[in-house]
Amino acid sequence: TSTSSCPPDKDQLGHATWTFLHTTAAYYPTHPTPHQRTQMLALIGSLPALYPCSHCAEDFGESLKRNPPDVSGRAGLSRWFCQRHNEVNEKLGKAAFDCAKTDERWKDGPADAFCD
Ligand code: FAD
Repeated sequence: TSTSSCPPDKDQLGHATWTFLHTTAAYYPTHPTPHQRTQMLALIGSLPALYPCSHCAEDFGESLKRNPPDVSGRAGLSRWFCQRHNEVNEKLGKAAFDCAKTDERWKDGPADAFCD
């Protein structure tokens, strides 16, 4: 959404959080250390307890149980976040995002310079 409100509403918070998560995955190492893997699992695992939209957090927690995070490297992690985001998109009746375009959207930038 392009409009901003103060304090942020659920959509703004979601947009900002996905920006953080997808960008963090895009720059996660190809070969993460055990410490980096543990910290990524902790970051993801904290969301069901702390994300400040309770029904969003609850559904994300259920999804986590069905889909353990792939913290093996940036490609797997980026795909994993794309799939989780697409579950939310589907729930909200939004179009699925093509996960093959994740790097273009969040790391390399599109050829035409337009992100959406
Ligand atoms: P967003 O969905 O925020 O997406 C931002 C941008 O990401 C898009 O413009 C697109 O370029 C890109 N993108 C879209 N899909 C993908 C993908 N699969 N992979 C990579 N990039 C993608 N809202 C609710 O109403 N109910 C919920 O239960 C809910 N649960 C949420 C759970 C989590 C963990 C998070 C982070 C957010 C949740 N949200 C929920 C918020 C919701 O996902 C959106 O952020 C919000 O609706 C605003 O949508 P938006 O149009 O700004 O685009």
